[in-house]
Amino acid sequence: MNKAESTDIENHLKFFGFQRTKVARDADLIVLNTCVVRQHAEDKVSGMLGYLKGIKSMKPDLNIAVTGCIVGSDIENLTRRFPHVDLFYKPGEYSCFTDWFDRTIRNNIHGPKELELYPATQVSAYIPIIQGCNNFCSYCIVPYRRGRERSRSPQEILHQVSGLMAGGTREIILLGQNVNAYGMDLDERIDLADLLAMLNGLKGLYRIRFLTNHPKDMNLRLIKAIASLDKVCRHICLPLQAGDDRILAAMNRHYTARQYRKLISDIRNILPDVALSTDIIVGFPGESDDQFLNTYKAVEEIRFDTVHVASYSTRSETMAGKNYEDNIPYEAKMQRLLKIEELQKKTSAAINQNLLATSQEVLVEGKKGGKWYGRTYSDKLAFFSHPDDFTGKLVTVQINSSSPWALQGEAVL
Ligand code: SAH
Ligand code: SF4
Repeated sequence: MNKAESTDIENHLKFFGFQRTKVARDADLIVLNTCVVRQHAEDKVSGMLGYLKGIKSMKPDLNIAVTGCIVGSDIENLTRRFPHVDLFYKPGEYSCFTDWFDRTIRNNIHGPKELELYPATQVSAYIPIIQGCNNFCSYCIVPYRRGRERSRSPQEILHQVSGLMAGGTREIILLGQNVNAYGMDLDERIDLADLLAMLNGLKGLYRIRFLTNHPKDMNLRLIKAIASLDKVCRHICLPLQAGDDRILAAMNRHYTARQYRKLISDIRNILPDVALSTDIIVGFPGESDDQFLNTYKAVEEIRFDTVHVASYSTRSETMAGKNYEDNIPYEAKMQRLLKIEELQKKTSAAINQNLLATSQEVLVEGKKGGKWYGRTYSDKLAFFSHPDDFTGKLVTVQINSSSPWALQGEAVL
């Protein structure tokens, strides 16, 4: 979501002739898009704001805007703590930024204005479809910072996608904290399955992905819709968080490990070639060795394609932050995290090895380290060498080597 929002800001600025710089000291405007999902991320934001204060003291004309989840309801407090910041605006409230930009910067730009610098082609583009979250998982700060669920209208989404496609976009990744809630707050009767069907009809669009799903809201109608829509990738992101029922209940996730496993088997029955990814939190307050083992076993048995594992970080505004002591020592959290990562490395290596000698269709996004790269239908990163430019094209790649993280092969033309 932050990436999608940063791209919008960057495109807006490019339109007015701004260019990206890698050196903060060279910038006329710095927009900091923050994440505070874990304490570590919040600490990095504070450190960066301190650093920018130093730069601004030497360069008073510098404009600094801050957005993302550090900006909650108490903007006054932030302004007091960081007086060198010119604008704080809540995540997703993009018009606050553009209004401020128009008022204070746009009119002062020296040199050519509105240089028609159109953004470079984004082969794969993120499209937020629903903002906010109503779930209040006990550990999570997102609902406090991003507010309640608000779906964008299908017309607005279609308009954005059509514009991007005119610029060369071939894949869209629909985003939301809980995409399964899409449409529930709209007057129009529409859900995620309907939206996918609508977008699937767009000529010239090759692929559609979506994330994140919530296991309690994932339904068979959606899975069947995925099976019937040729552009929707066989890739489902379904955060498990924990494989132990007591921990799941304390997390306020509203499903049991058994229900989750049943959901996975239903998905695999309908979509046998599906790739599954998940998120896990280790070291939730009170998590015993046995409870962790339940999570470990679930990850081992389910055999996900990808696992993102995080160690629990207490957020004081949340229910868990208020009611539970963060009582799992740092070392134990790290050990658990590493155990899951090691297990997953083996599983991913085995899954990717199974793709050796197969042909995979890759949507080419660009070049890295002299090789073309892109993703397969099931979301595996794949590389190949070729003298021609394939950006934005679908290329069949014969896989000849694999690692837990990526595939390598040769283009079959
Ligand atoms: N809406 C998504 C994810 C949102 S946050 C979902 O329901 O899963 C992204 C990930 O950050 C979560 O899946 C979780 O694994 C992790 N996360 C959120 N809060 C956390 C916390 N307090 N400590 C550690 N990890 C956290
Ligand atoms: Fe956070 Fe839970 Fe909402 Fe995901 S579903 S954003 S984890 S509260």
